[in-house]
Amino acid sequence: MDEDYDIVIVGGGPAGLAAGLYGARARRRTVLLEKGVIGGQISLSERVENYPGVEAIGGFDLAQTMLRQAENSGLETHYKAVLGLEQTDDLWRVKTNDGDYRAKAVIITSGADYNRLDVPGEERLTGRGVSYCATCDAPFFAGQEVAVVGGGDSALDEGMFAARHVAKVHLVHRREELRASRILQERVFADPKFEFVWNTVITEVLGEEQVAGVRLLHLPTREERVLPVAGVFVFIGHHPNTTYLRSLVSMDEGGHIVVNEWMETDAPGLFAAGDARQNSARQVVTAAGDGATAAVAAERYISDRFPVE
Ligand code: NAP
Repeated sequence: MDEDYDIVIVGGGPAGLAAGLYGARARRRTVLLEKGVIGGQISLSERVENYPGVEAIGGFDLAQTMLRQAENSGLETHYKAVLGLEQTDDLWRVKTNDGDYRAKAVIITSGADYNRLDVPGEERLTGRGVSYCATCDAPFFAGQEVAVVGGGDSALDEGMFAARHVAKVHLVHRREELRASRILQERVFADPKFEFVWNTVITEVLGEEQVAGVRLLHLPTREERVLPVAGVFVFIGHHPNTTYLRSLVSMDEGGHIVVNEWMETDAPGLFAAGDARQNSARQVVTAAGDGATAAVAAERYISDRFPVE
């Protein structure tokens, strides 16, 4: 039997938690479905220091605070994986690995997942030296040398965390200019544990049971060399978790859901917020703002479409 809700939220990152808070406070029966860890990407961030009003907090703690606040307002949280959605008459059916839900409105906040290098050795050595979370794994490499791949905020943020544990961080970037914010750039350039490997990509991760090194390609000269490292931390961007929605709503080429300024998709009663939507600034604060907007819009949609007799 389907469970009936006013609003079903798919994904428990900052966008989903903010939507849950607003939905519950509007006294709509609201459930948030999460297949993994509450907080999504921020649960892996060691420090968040750009959420206004909160000078510095661990990402996991911020997510737990958001969850507690939303649950205290009446949000329900169920740990289930959403497999697909369909609309029948005016209602949405949300299918999960453990039963279905019926909802008047659905807010998609399923976020984004990290990109992989897609080079030989990467998959085989994942968890054996290849990692996508320095905050989680850098302490295992105490006193050793590691490579960090990418030039964005994540690479620098996570690289700085790694530098506290390891002997040296080789920051491998495909250009000779970093994409990351200036403040983070200033910090890594001042950190003596960073070595910069510019204009270079990794073409292979080497090692049998554990990572022993990486094969590097210097793009301007096409010269190859081996860099002996014990760990490889990959931070080369993200892709949205939206494949379960294919053909249901309009998306851009990258799979981000197209929404208007009220976070409405082109399917009635279906909203999208946070990193899963097109043109997101991909910040905790903007994701939370998106989630609030989506919940306000969902509340209006429900009031208009399902008036109380
Ligand atoms: P990002 O900003 O998209 O940066 C990805 C980096 O990976 C870029 O430097 C890119 O190079 C490189 N790259 C992409 N594909 C590659 C490939 N196939 N091989 C080698 N390098 C590749 O991603 P992000 O750093 O994960 O950040 C995502 C968003 O989260 C951003 O909006 C960021 O501001 C935000 N964020 C903020 C913080 C913070 O404020 N503390 C922390 C983490 C993330 P190019 O530069 O050449 O394109």
